Amino acid sequence: MTFITRFAPSPTGYLHSGHALSAITAHDAARAAGGTFLLRIEDIDHTRCRPAFVDAISEDLAALGLTWDGPVWRQSMRGAFYATALDDIRNKGLAYPCFCNRRQVAAHSPGQGADGLIYGGTCRDLSRDEVAARVAAGQVPAWRLRLDTALQLAGAIVWQDRRAGWQDWAGDGVGDVVIARRDIATSYHLAVVVDDAAQGVTQIIRGMDLFHQTAVHVLLQRILDLPTPHYLHHQLLSDADGRKLSKSAGARSLRDIFAEGTDGRLVAERLRKVIAGAT
Ligand code: GLU
Repeated sequence: MTFITRFAPSPTGYLHSGHALSAITAHDAARAAGGTFLLRIEDIDHTRCRPAFVDAISEDLAALGLTWDGPVWRQSMRGAFYATALDDIRNKGLAYPCFCNRRQVAAHSPGQGADGLIYGGTCRDLSRDEVAARVAAGQVPAWRLRLDTALQLAGAIVWQDRRAGWQDWAGDGVGDVVIARRDIATSYHLAVVVDDAAQGVTQIIRGMDLFHQTAVHVLLQRILDLPTPHYLHHQLLSDADGRKLSKSAGARSLRDIFAEGTDGRLVAERLRKVIAGAT
C-alpha cells in the first residue's frame, strides 16, 4: 500500500518539542512502512511567517536526525491552486462573501466553536447588488463556506481517526467557516486540503490540537471531489503544569535546547520514548 505522510509546520516561530514529536511520529511511521515523508512549509499567512523561521525548520529537523523526501513545498507559491479550488466551491453555490470585521463577527456570534467564534450569518443573504456595491466601494470580502448546503451535498461526514475511532459529524460546532481570508485569499482549511490531495498524501499524522478541524477538511474533500486520507491525531506534549506546549505558553524552542549543548538525536530519542509510552 502506498504510504505518503507529511509534516506541515507554519513558520511563525521556532519549532519546539511538540513540533518535534509530531515530525518524528510521522517520519518514523513513513520509514517503518517503506513510505514517503514530505516536508511542507505552510506559509500562507504573510502577516505571521518569517523567512528565518523557514530556514530554521529544515535545520532543526536535520539536527533531530530526520530526513524527508522530494522537494519541500511552500504554500506561498501555490496561491493559484487555492484560487481554483475556491472558484470551484463558489461555482457550486457553496460559499458567500463576508464583509464583517472581527468586531462585527463577535457582536453577532452565538458562541465559541472549534475554529474560533461561530459566525452569526450576517452576510449570508446579501443581494448581488449589495455585494457589487461594497466591492465597488473598495471593500474586499472574505469567503465563507455555506455549511448547511455543503453538508446537504456531501452527505454525512464520517471519518476515522486511528486512535479515537470513527467520527460522525453533523456540522455542529463550527458554523460557516472562512475558507478564504480577505488578506491572503485562502485559509488553512482550503490550502491544507488542496495540498494534501496534490501531494498524494495517504496518511495525515498530526497533533490532537487539529482533531476538531478534520471534519471540515473531510467536508471540503467531498465537495472538491478529493480523496480522504487516513488520519491519526497523536497526543500532545504538555509542560510540567499539564498545559499543551506552545510558543505562546513559553515552550522552549529546539534551538534553545540544542544551544545548551543537548544533541538533537538525543532529543529525538527521548521523544521516541514518549511516543512509545503514549501508544
Ligand atoms: N500548519 C499547521 C500547523 O502548523 C499544521 C497543518 C496540518 O498538519 O494539517 O499547525
